[in-house]
Amino acid sequence: MSTASSLPDLSRLCIHTITTKPWAIETSAAKFAAAGAKGITVWRDTLAGRNLGATRQMLRDHDLSVVSLCRGGFFPATTAAERIKALDDNRKAIAEAHELGAPLIVLVCGAVPGQSLLDSRKQIQDGIAALLPDCQSAGVKLAIEPLHPMYADSRSAVNTLGQANDMVEAIGSPLVGVAADVYHLWWDPALQQEIARCGRLNALFAFHVCDWRTPTIDLLNDRGLMGEGCIPLRQIRSWVEAAGFNGFHEVEVFSTRLWAMDQDEYLQQIVQAYRNHV
Ligand code: ZN
Repeated sequence: MSTASSLPDLSRLCIHTITTKPWAIETSAAKFAAAGAKGITVWRDTLAGRNLGATRQMLRDHDLSVVSLCRGGFFPATTAAERIKALDDNRKAIAEAHELGAPLIVLVCGAVPGQSLLDSRKQIQDGIAALLPDCQSAGVKLAIEPLHPMYADSRSAVNTLGQANDMVEAIGSPLVGVAADVYHLWWDPALQQEIARCGRLNALFAFHVCDWRTPTIDLLNDRGLMGEGCIPLRQIRSWVEAAGFNGFHEVEVFSTRLWAMDQDEYLQQIVQAYRNHV
């Protein structure tokens, strides 16, 4: 009996470059591939100073699928000039995704403290709609990532999967869907039904995993590795798969604590946590 065959396979494991933030993208790619991952989601900061065509080839040489580029968005602003600037940055992200061979851009949609969430959501929807011709010609899709309500002040006015689904429906383009991240969505009593609805809309484009620690000591950089917190990962994964999702499981962890670890040791823990908890 082979023990290898009884291990859950890693063919759907994708890791975000931000998860091992201390590493350059070349190091992440080599180590992720050696650990058995088949996908990588690239954060734009890791591309600074790189030739994107050469980076695309480097990722291909490691047999890694580029799952997404993170991130675009931040559409709302109090002036038209700032909103135009935001669109320009998103167009730049679309061009980068095209050059890198990333089929999808994850959108952290944005919000402005003091501006109503309704107004911000309107600006987000208008912003996404304005990008559709660019997405069409670049062959790049957009995924609205609803963010936990603790970020509603300044990072995203889209805070539930229901709101994201509403926006996807209103825009009505096959180029626009949703990135479902367990960190942001696990608490929502409507989660199961909204995941099913997202599936019916053919809009479930991405699935991000990590865990929620108690206590959480930092709003941004204290995510847990899968199994370290209270998120019912297997249950949510079962809902996502019942909705027809068969893409990558993307490990996205921002953690000052884990970035301070030896990253090789941490990567082994990521693979183990993926096998045990996702
Ligand atoms: Zn995410």
